[in-house]
Order: sequence, then C-alpha cells, then structure tokens
Amino acid sequence: MTKKQIINRVTYWQNKLGLSNWRIKVTFQNFKRLADDDKYAAIAKTESNPTYLLADIYFKIEYLDVVDDPAIVHELLHLVLGDIVSYFVSNSKDLQEDPAWTNYFEEKTVATLERIITRINKL
Ligand SMILES: [Zn+2]
Repeated sequence: MTKKQIINRVTYWQNKLGLSNWRIKVTFQNFKRLADDDKYAAIAKTESNPTYLLADIYFKIEYLDVVDDPAIVHELLHLVLGDIVSYFVSNSKDLQEDPAWTNYFEEKTVATLERIITRINKL
C-alpha cells in the first residue's frame, strides 16, 4: 500500500472496530524488530495509552508494499487489548519476571481475533 492508502485503511478499520474515540497517529519510519514471534513486528508496531485513548502506529518504511488489511487490523487490535494487558502485567509478578509470556498471550489473542475479523469480512 502507499502511505495514503495505509492512512485511509487505518481510519476505515478504526471506525469499523469501534475505536473512533482514539486519537491515532500513523508514522512511517524504520525501527528494530520487536519480537521474533510477532509476524507483524517486522512490518509495524503500536504503542498506546489506553487511559487517554492515544496511540501511535509505526509502519516500517521499507515494507509498506506488504502492508495489508490484516496487518492493520492486527495493529489496531492491540488497542482493544491495551487495558487488560496493562492490568495483568501490573498485577502479575510472574508476567513481570518473564515478559515474554505477556507478549505471547497478547500476540496470540490479537492474531486469533484478526483471523476471525478478516475471515468474517472475507479479506
Ligand atoms: Zn502484534
């Protein structure tokens, strides 16, 4: 996708997923891969503040051509899970001691929901 297409599709999916109250800034830049088990980490990453409904989605500039709707849905679903992930990390000594499990459960849940949503929408 082009930068303009990505911005348009983020807005489309933001509304479709019920996230229209969020302020989402889309940025195109280079960054290091976050985790080996996150398929989309090489393409994009999302940082969010669920309390204030603020988010930044970063798309890796060299991989814009492989960005698709499932990748965008995936990043936006991290916003949906932001509260619950923060809660569990804050209240679980086990997760604080082994953050890889947080990433595993969050990515698995996001990936599962992304498959369901894209299948329902026949993408
Ligand atoms: Zn992810």
